[in-house]
Amino acid sequence: MNALPQASTPLSSPMPAPARKSVLQDVEQTRLAIEMIAQGARLQVLESEVALPRVRLIRLYKELCGVSPPKGMLPFPIDWFVTWRPNAHASLLLCAYRFIVAQGQVDGIHAMLSSYRLYREYVSQADEELLISFTRAWTLVRFYERGMLELARCRTCGGQYLVHAHDPRRRHVCGLCEPPARAGKTRKAPMQAVQHIPHAR
Ligand SMILES: [Zn+2]
Repeated sequence: MNALPQASTPLSSPMPAPARKSVLQDVEQTRLAIEMIAQGARLQVLESEVALPRVRLIRLYKELCGVSPPKGMLPFPIDWFVTWRPNAHASLLLCAYRFIVAQGQVDGIHAMLSSYRLYREYVSQADEELLISFTRAWTLVRFYERGMLELARCRTCGGQYLVHAHDPRRRHVCGLCEPPARAGKTRKAPMQAVQHIPHAR
């Protein structure tokens, strides 16, 4: 098939560019929505990231999950990300996100999806509980991108961990190096994984 239509053969002309583009975009956005739903994205996250009408997103959600999407957005307080165990998971996830963005292959929601898959893989290999849902991970990246959370280097192990932005503590010690007494026998695998991601140190 000729890429360039001939003026003398109008019947063989390809479809007008805008219409073709819109179909392709539609397929791409549908694929994105399916992937996000499979990871557990809530409707509000889908609406923010996917350029499809809300009714279609709801229909897609129902078809894939067999139920209607839950209403409302779960409140995810920023403080949760800096508490002991969540901090290890969130730092791991964010380091993966930064690594993927730094590689320059993908960005935005696609980098988020890739880092979330990576996070799930790490957690499953470490036989850990999956502490961060996809929607919570999405919130985490937004907090980070808005400058509300930042990474601080642990003065003991050199790994980078999430802290509140503009935290007055200049010399941070991470939860792996100084676990709280209540941490008990908590496994350290996710925190150690943070140190194994390139660019995380
Ligand atoms: Zn440390």
